[in-house]
Amino acid sequence: EDKVVGFIGLGNMGNHMAKNLVNKGYSLVVFDVNKAVVKELQDAGAKAAGSPAEVASLTKHIVTMLPASQHVTEVYTGNNGILSSVQSGSMMIDSSTIDPAVSQEMAKLAGGKNSVYLDAPVSGGVNAAKGALLTFMVGGPKDKFEVAKTILDNMGKNVVHCGAVGTGQAAKICNNMLLAISMIGTSEAMNLGISLGLDPKLLASILNTSSGRCWSSDTYNPCPGVLENVPSSNDYKGGFGTALMTKDLGLAKNAAQATSTACPLGSFAQEFYTKMTEKGYGQKDFSSAFQVIKSVSGK
Ligand code: NAD
Repeated sequence: EDKVVGFIGLGNMGNHMAKNLVNKGYSLVVFDVNKAVVKELQDAGAKAAGSPAEVASLTKHIVTMLPASQHVTEVYTGNNGILSSVQSGSMMIDSSTIDPAVSQEMAKLAGGKNSVYLDAPVSGGVNAAKGALLTFMVGGPKDKFEVAKTILDNMGKNVVHCGAVGTGQAAKICNNMLLAISMIGTSEAMNLGISLGLDPKLLASILNTSSGRCWSSDTYNPCPGVLENVPSSNDYKGGFGTALMTKDLGLAKNAAQATSTACPLGSFAQEFYTKMTEKGYGQKDFSSAFQVIKSVSGK
């Protein structure tokens, strides 16, 4: 079996995912525009390529983990992009969260090269990426899904087939819209409780055994000091950037408009994180919503 995998996009998520593949015995060929992260993977045993095209010329299995639609389009279709040199019979798996229409377009272009492209966005933060505990939501032909799963199983604990290409993105967009909303709600509830004199850790432990419990409260609490090893306890560094969450809410907004579906809280969240990004929170973890709510309360 072919144990060589190409990996493009070695950021907060991709670098852990790629390292897990190395640890599971895959030979990796990697590329990123950021030389520092490439070096980190080389130190872990991966081979560095000079472009996405070179990655595609060296392996038929490629995973991409890039910020947004425009980066995916560039890495696949640009000069020196994957599709300029992809080998017939290749499989490309894109785990970035992007517009489902872009996934469908990439799949069509890949088909024209006798290859297959699947969308496989992930849920779970950087700690889940590190621990190979991600959920992959995959869109593409069922038989190709089975092949992709053998690779994705090394980076996640749930690999779910959602349907045709683009449906993985659809599931992901819905999840993140809910997460964006629940993070604002958790921040608001934690901040109110503190204003009322409650100890934040105690309040969190009550929420987490009550009906308000959610991932934002029990796994990724936005209030500093409640949990260790989450961005809120590390000055909101690392994790999932507010700018990326804002991007995902833009995708939800487009999807809602395209299907004439009401998403009142989704629209509110989109405006809330857009303002945060404008105020300079873009590179901080999105759980810094707590800081914003605290500061508008004058605390
Ligand atoms: P990131 O910005 O940390 O990493 C992206 C990487 O892509 C960077 O290393 C960057 O240098 C590289 N890159 C950008 N343009 C490139 C190009 N043209 N060629 C090669 N490399 C290029 O982002 P991330 O947090 O790792 O997220 C990646 C994707 O996963 C996003 O779509 C995000 O929405 C999604 N996601 C993130 C999280 C999270 O918690 N961080 C969770 C689930 C899903």
